[in-house]
Amino acid sequence: MQQNANAGPLESLEQWEDFVQRRYDPNRKPEDFRKHDEESPAVVREFYRLNHMYQTREFVQQKKKQYLGLDRERMGVWEAMEYLNNLVDESDPDTDLSQIEHLLQTAESIRKDGHPRWMIATGLVHDLGKVLSLIGEPQWAVVGDTFPVGCEWSKTIVFHDYLAANPDSSNPQYQTLYGVYEPGCGLDNVDLSWGHDEYMYHVVKDYLPLEGLYMIRYHSFYPWHQDGAYHHLMDDQDRRMLPWVDKFNPYDLYSKSAERPNLEEVKPFYLDLINEFFPEKLRW
Ligand code: FE
Ligand code: FE
Repeated sequence: MQQNANAGPLESLEQWEDFVQRRYDPNRKPEDFRKHDEESPAVVREFYRLNHMYQTREFVQQKKKQYLGLDRERMGVWEAMEYLNNLVDESDPDTDLSQIEHLLQTAESIRKDGHPRWMIATGLVHDLGKVLSLIGEPQWAVVGDTFPVGCEWSKTIVFHDYLAANPDSSNPQYQTLYGVYEPGCGLDNVDLSWGHDEYMYHVVKDYLPLEGLYMIRYHSFYPWHQDGAYHHLMDDQDRRMLPWVDKFNPYDLYSKSAERPNLEEVKPFYLDLINEFFPEKLRW
């Protein structure tokens, strides 16, 4: 893939991660949400201002058409990890936690807790969809919490107030509890705001068990897996899978404080693991 010169760098990654860790601290109190939102760094606020303004239902459907054909590139998992890492190193030399380290730390913490190999593989690839930012997508269309489009926005959505600037707010059909969806229709039938979760789910959907696919597809859907919103859209499969998404979350959030893995030391294990689950080249 060619790097688009207009692609926004993964700037201020440290500030960003700081914000995420504080907001999703398991000991936080509900009244702290807003405080965290208001006290968050300008870069985070600006990120969500743009995200909430531009993530309309139409935008999401257009991005799905644009990307989910997976006809842009063929790239292996390790190759994609290195590819993603280069961008961060180039654009953000001050960040001491690269993308490859985050993926390895997540996978290593899962491994240390004795979870099955498919879950380690899931941790390893869960954020690879961020390559979208190398193909020219702005940050607000790659990362951040996700939320359903086409129905009422839950109050639990981070920076909820910014959604007032979203054009969908003036479409009455999108502002009811179910909006364009049926009760209990299942999340598979719900469009979430576009980003690296949905993209990566499609890239690996033939290669991991359903539990792992849920972890990847919904790891940024905090209103659902952490705040209990949108349960009226769930079907039985979603209910069965939600505990797995929960199980994954701490590895994504808190592995950052864990030991930094020695890349050369762990590489053979991961090349082996990649070989076990994924084809030599994935379609992107
Ligand atoms: Fe992620
Ligand atoms: Fe992550």
